[in-house]
Amino acid sequence: AKAKGRNTYHFYSQELNAAANERLFIENELRVAIKAKQFIIYYQPQVDSRTQQVVGYEALIRWFHPTEGMIPPTKFIPIAEATGLIVELGAWVLQEACEFAARLAMQGRENNISINLSARQFKDAKLVPLLASIIKKTKVPAKCLHLELTESMLMGNVEAAISQLHQLKTLGVSISIDDFGTGYSSLSYLKRFPVDILKVDRSFVKDIPDDPNDMEITAAIIAMAQKLKLNVVAEGVETIEQVEFLQNNNCFIVQGYYYSAPIPESELSNLFEKLNER
Ligand code: C2E
Ligand code: CA
Ligand code: CA
Ligand code: CA
Repeated sequence: AKAKGRNTYHFYSQELNAAANERLFIENELRVAIKAKQFIIYYQPQVDSRTQQVVGYEALIRWFHPTEGMIPPTKFIPIAEATGLIVELGAWVLQEACEFAARLAMQGRENNISINLSARQFKDAKLVPLLASIIKKTKVPAKCLHLELTESMLMGNVEAAISQLHQLKTLGVSISIDDFGTGYSSLSYLKRFPVDILKVDRSFVKDIPDDPNDMEITAAIIAMAQKLKLNVVAEGVETIEQVEFLQNNNCFIVQGYYYSAPIPESELSNLFEKLNER
């Protein structure tokens, strides 16, 4: 039994080592990657399902590592957050996404751009002056910018969060609650926060029309958003059945593989062609 115990321990410690090594590797490589510009932003369209028109895009960061290939954001964003590297990386995302939005506005496409904020970025006292200066420099219409936050980012220090939201809104941007329904916020809190948009999480959308519970929850979130006069966007929409269910429940702005995966700016013209053909 003793030998077995030792083997088991050995096994776990190897696994822990592998995880710790990967973390360390990513942390080190992140520092290099920021300097070497290994990141690019992909944009995923948000489409009005009634007209097939693109109404906005979500900016989603991609890391193309020279030897490891694509490292997904779910792997490196939490490490960037824990190490504080997210502040520099997040500032880069804001700058890039605003330049993109400004280019679109110049082409007469005044689309919304949704940008994910991390917890640390949101709490940072420099966020508001940084965003103000980026808006000024890039000349992006502030009303085009939607900042995506999660419920948990608002729930820690509620008063501080409300104050930060008001300062952001003074710049003219909109606030979106990402992954809505997966956190622990209550409706009474939601009413206190100056937010504009709810994003129905993919976990509720993905099993429509097979899971009646998910359909109830999705319909309830949409109805509640309407009562609170919030806009609602459904994410992770992959099928026509899901588009139709959402339409029948008064949610018309959808984002997901049904219309398009996140794509680089260079593929936008192909996207427009594809949407025209539908
Ligand atoms: P998120 O904000 O919830 O982004 C939506 C994720 O769902 C994206 O994954 C997107 O590619 C994926 N997705 C979109 N449509 C579909 C669909 O129809 N089916 C499926 N299965 N997936 C779909 P991605 O790009 O890997 O990003 C993962 C997460 O990483 C994001 O989740 C967000 O939390 C974080 N993230 C990405 N970019 C940034 C960034 O610039 N800053 C920060 N702070 N976080 C980011
Ligand atoms: Ca998001
Ligand atoms: Ca989301
Ligand atoms: Ca998510």
